[in-house]
Amino acid sequence: MSQIIALTNQKGGVGKTTSAVNLAASLAALDRRVLLVDLDPQGHASMGSGIDKHALEASVLDVLVGDAQAKDIIVSKLPAGFDVLPGNGDLTAAEVELLDAEHPQSRLSFALKGVAANYDVVLIDCPPSLNMLTVNALTAADGVLIPLQCEFYALEGLSALLDTVEQIKESVNPQLAVSGILRTMYDKRTSLTREVDKQLRDYFGDALLKATIPRNIKVAEAPSHGMPVTKYARLSRGSQAYRVLAKELIKRLSL
Ligand code: ADP
Ligand code: MG
Repeated sequence: MSQIIALTNQKGGVGKTTSAVNLAASLAALDRRVLLVDLDPQGHASMGSGIDKHALEASVLDVLVGDAQAKDIIVSKLPAGFDVLPGNGDLTAAEVELLDAEHPQSRLSFALKGVAANYDVVLIDCPPSLNMLTVNALTAADGVLIPLQCEFYALEGLSALLDTVEQIKESVNPQLAVSGILRTMYDKRTSLTREVDKQLRDYFGDALLKATIPRNIKVAEAPSHGMPVTKYARLSRGSQAYRVLAKELIKRLSL
């Protein structure tokens, strides 16, 4: 049984895309069959996985609002070690085009039905907004992985996200669960971090993942080489942190 996990936080710049790409690569390195779905019009998950988003003939948009089959759009045999259902700027049209679609919030869920069985894990990189694309991701998903930075405003907006998760759970996807809260760009030396850590632990309890991702220059450099950090700088702290995260999730979610 494959598991579908959406990396979601409507705040931008918290490490969703970075975590999606590097978690995909780390799970693949641990022999899991992984599909990464790029649902952000920025197409950064596609680029970071080694795909030229400008050269795509078709993207996940054609699956969401057209007749295309996911299996025909998926890019496989990437050096990164996992498959990608790519996205690019064409996705900016999704919001409007989905208005005319039947079951607009379930399009991704329907599309993944045909391919999910080929994978152990499907990761979905969401846009920085609680829009119809994110709703599609949450409707298709078994779990939500929420990356956040331990900063003063880290918790702001989380209640809106958790409300959305709850609504989708009550309406179309009763199995949806919070798979974990992931602290990114983490620096445990600051007192602010310790304070936010405590708030997160009080609020989320067990859902707060033990693995944390440090701020690491190699993590930031890797995408410009079209590679996950696990390939670009295998021994870096960032690469090792994503490996620890992958192992924790494999255990926690029985991946
Ligand atoms: P989001 O997808 O949530 O908008 P990104 O993954 O694109 O966030 O990350 C935002 C920026 O922070 C990017 O420039 C990325 O390279 C950088 N970044 C993310 N994680 C790290 C990290 N662990 N160390 C250093 N830079 C990071
Ligand atoms: Mg992103």
